[in-house]
Amino acid sequence: MQHWLRYFPPGKERSVNRYQVTPSEKLIIVTDVLPALLQGNYQPTASDGTCQVALYIEAGQVSQIRQLFNETDLSVPPGWQILKLPNQWILVPAFVDCHVHLALDAITGFKGLTGPVADEIIERRLREVAEGGIMALRDGSDRFNTGLQARYLSRKLSVNTIRPAVIATGRAIFRKGFYGTNLGGEGVTSFHEVENRLLQLRKEGADQVKVVLSGLLNFSYAESTDPPHFSLEEMKAIVARAGEYGLPVMVHANSDQAVRLAVQAGVHTVEHGFFLSAETLQLMAEKDVAWVPTVVPVAAALDLYQGSSREEKAIKKIIEKQLKMISLARELGVTMGLGTDAGAPGVDWKIGYRQEMKLFARAGLSAADILTIASENGAKVLGLNKKMGKIASGKKPCWLGLEKNILSSMENFKGPAGIISFR
Ligand SMILES: [Zn+2]
Repeated sequence: MQHWLRYFPPGKERSVNRYQVTPSEKLIIVTDVLPALLQGNYQPTASDGTCQVALYIEAGQVSQIRQLFNETDLSVPPGWQILKLPNQWILVPAFVDCHVHLALDAITGFKGLTGPVADEIIERRLREVAEGGIMALRDGSDRFNTGLQARYLSRKLSVNTIRPAVIATGRAIFRKGFYGTNLGGEGVTSFHEVENRLLQLRKEGADQVKVVLSGLLNFSYAESTDPPHFSLEEMKAIVARAGEYGLPVMVHANSDQAVRLAVQAGVHTVEHGFFLSAETLQLMAEKDVAWVPTVVPVAAALDLYQGSSREEKAIKKIIEKQLKMISLARELGVTMGLGTDAGAPGVDWKIGYRQEMKLFARAGLSAADILTIASENGAKVLGLNKKMGKIASGKKPCWLGLEKNILSSMENFKGPAGIISFR
């Protein structure tokens, strides 16, 4: 029988059990799972929708998955070890946060990171993200290029410990004179400047490009009157040129008009997407454009604006509308990713993620839906689906042990109880 390492994150958070699989190990993990999170055909056998499987791992990756219908089904070849997960756990693929800002301080949301303390602060934030079970994140830009710096640091730290993979977008592209200075530094005034910025991003090794098409939400109103900051023709040209450089486009868009324009221009993902309509969601489903609804920064704003009745009322309306559209997106088959906008005022690096999961539950989505969105969809949004996402043969361990009580209510979720990764 193999044993867990106990891992005690600092602060008041619970301790997390950790297991790192080594390349020389021949290991069988016996655990309950939700069939939807496995590659292949497995049948639920328990009333909570789970089944029991044995995951055979050798040379650092899954070689076989077998469903266990009873105790005697488990065959243990000579030289293999067993790691049995607690009965009250399920094993799920690790989480992916599709939208964070490692540079922002989660208080003002605007203080960028520069100077000698930057590395230390980024390292601390990456550790907190990992403790939350988030094994990959996409940084949604800042003017100091922190995302690229974080990607470098994460790779360096991952040699000795568990750190999330970082997908970096470099500095965002935004129109000069409009919102975006904190995300991109200098705005663009012509397509020639856009081309130069894309060239620069390719040179720096960005994984994706962030384009700002709308402003921030104005919490005095439960609607947007902000016209898109680029025209459809401009947006199409940006997407086409970015595509030539192999850069998928993530677009910050609020208002139905802006989201629709982004979708028509063929972007990879729509970020936030507040105030979008059912028709636009339908178009997203047809064109396979993913949506990252980021409800938690708005929910956090509710705390910040407590006592000012006008804003409180507008914020509540914005949240309810967004949850309704999340429910509709699920029905229409829109690919949604889970993103927190961590670093924005009031959004914590690890707690923000489970708050967003609970908001998706409030929208009426099941635990299986939310866990699929958190893992499989997130991996797709980040372009990491060969490595992460579904639990599958040929993939390395990158999984979490969660207490089963989340299957009855997501409100029970207090963070992962175990992390299983590959070393
Ligand atoms: Zn953002």
